[in-house]
Amino acid sequence: MHLCLYDNWERQLRQFTPLRQDWVGLYCCGPTVYDYAHIGNLRTYLFEDILRRTLEFNGHQVRHVINITDVGHLVSDADDGEDKMEKGSRKAGESAWDIAEKFTSAFKADLLSLNMLPPTIWCKATDHIAEQIDFIATIEQKGYTYTTSDGVYFDTSKQNDYGYLARLNRDGIEAGIRVELGEKKHPTDFALWKFSPANEQCQMEWDSPWGRGFPGWHIECSAMASKYLEPWFDIHCGGEDHIAIHHSNEIAQNQTCHGTRLANHWMHGYFLQIDAGKMSKSSGDFLRLQTLIDQEIDPLAYRFLCLSAHYRSQMNFNWDALEAAQTALGRLRETYFALP
Ligand SMILES: [Zn+2]
Repeated sequence: MHLCLYDNWERQLRQFTPLRQDWVGLYCCGPTVYDYAHIGNLRTYLFEDILRRTLEFNGHQVRHVINITDVGHLVSDADDGEDKMEKGSRKAGESAWDIAEKFTSAFKADLLSLNMLPPTIWCKATDHIAEQIDFIATIEQKGYTYTTSDGVYFDTSKQNDYGYLARLNRDGIEAGIRVELGEKKHPTDFALWKFSPANEQCQMEWDSPWGRGFPGWHIECSAMASKYLEPWFDIHCGGEDHIAIHHSNEIAQNQTCHGTRLANHWMHGYFLQIDAGKMSKSSGDFLRLQTLIDQEIDPLAYRFLCLSAHYRSQMNFNWDALEAAQTALGRLRETYFALP
């Protein structure tokens, strides 16, 4: 029997055929570690855990990579606003490095509580600054960059099929633009390297051929996925919110550098809704796994609840459904342990 997986690049179910004999590459975009993960984030990692187990069940050896974004992810996708790590640091009164360490450990503990398999490789953005600088330098050599007063940008107009993953209508975006473009040439252009603000010491900044600063968010995934899985591997995953910007930009970077769309299959986990809205950290009020544990919910009851909805459908969270999942899980365990 063949394994078929839905691919967001082709927008259809496709038979899964590994690109290599010996291993299957699976890259999952990881957390930005400036705060705890909320249970909506964790739903995406649960989907990825099930996917990995499915691949292994089908006899594949999976090389599974999760990155830790510990630098340079700005609060706004428009490449402005504050650095999330610096913001988290100020809020907690601890250094950005300590914040990253603390929330990375908390994230790994959540995955364990939910019985997820640890990835083959964890990789941190701050451990791969040189790889990111090399990647940007190649994009620059190919003529796809321009520099403004605040950073080095990718010129999306140079790529004919930019945004294909999201089926972006670039002309429509250009025509309907209401946001302030600043020095960017096109609304879809994005930062590859951001300069540190003048007369201000950032906690996380590095020297580069373009000036002192820090990498844009998207470049770390292109650089680390290409390093650990090669520039053309099997499956790239993330949350549905990554399709339009983050993953479209990863693909643009790889097409420029390596002529590939990075992964053969693009798969996305859908949101958890709460009170008919997306659960989000920026709203400040979100549910952590610990919140459920404090209410005497077994973390595996949350895993059980997530398994009751298809990963490609939005799921509504409510406490009644979670308690029902806990009861059902308890019955399942009783039955299992009563087996002769
Ligand atoms: Zn990513």
